[in-house]
Amino acid sequence: MKLLENQTAIVTGASRGIGTGIALLLAEHGANVAFTYLSSEVKAKELEAQLQSKGVKAKAYHSDASDYKASEQLVNDVLAEFGKIDILVNNAGITKDGLLMRMSEEQFDMVIKANLKSVFNMTKAIQRPMLKERKGSIINITSVVGIRGNGGQSNYAASKAGIIGFTKSVALELGSRNIRCNAVAPGFIETEMTAALDEKVVAGWREGIPLKRGGTAEDVANTVVFLASGMSSYITGQVIQVCGGMLT
Ligand code: NAP
Repeated sequence: MKLLENQTAIVTGASRGIGTGIALLLAEHGANVAFTYLSSEVKAKELEAQLQSKGVKAKAYHSDASDYKASEQLVNDVLAEFGKIDILVNNAGITKDGLLMRMSEEQFDMVIKANLKSVFNMTKAIQRPMLKERKGSIINITSVVGIRGNGGQSNYAASKAGIIGFTKSVALELGSRNIRCNAVAPGFIETEMTAALDEKVVAGWREGIPLKRGGTAEDVANTVVFLASGMSSYITGQVIQVCGGMLT
């Protein structure tokens, strides 16, 4: 069953990892997909072609989600090309890990800007067109780390906890206009972001997860499609953990 026919979605940071998985599943459910990338141009063009081969309209945009003006421009460009925007998935994110003792001001600022300010930029830009349509679903990708904290990731955890507060506030502000805003909190999802980690450490993590495996981009994408679709029409302001039962 296709859940998103005639819908248009924007996904930030879809050139790799979880974002790619989300864009592909949205398209499989019939949604037209506009997505952004920052540096992975070749991968973005490949994904654009892959999405188009599924019979939907798709376009890659080079756009920095942490840049306020660029986000405004992106939304205007997508509206001009696609006509409307029904779904926004704020997925773009980075890590700059380190213990607080060694964390520089730059490392802190970069992560807050890329992970949290980006969500403000895109949500602010999409608000007006969604209000005009009197409908919309905004889905923010946070992390279990934003709920429970993580040593060596104080900047990342702060950015992801900030996303949760932002999500709940936007849900309160826009609920009466039929615009929903939810967050998805992945646990350990095996992507390029995590491939750089030591294999022994990763095996230990898998063992500690009740479902005994790391998650996949598709696990996260399934939840995003649910939140994007009418299947979740009475759900807003929530954080859904996709973490194999990891305790938070
Ligand atoms: P990833 O493999 O490193 O991919 C990150 C994506 O974000 C890339 O497509 C990158 O684009 C894009 N990006 C980064 N900064 C951007 C910016 N300023 N503007 C536009 N695009 C930008 O990461 P991932 O593992 O798929 O993670 C995706 C999201 O899930 C992130 O928000 C992350 O925090 C969250 N998450 C991941 C995990 C996990 O275990 N993997 C767990 C919890 C939450 P380019 O390649 O073009 O630069």
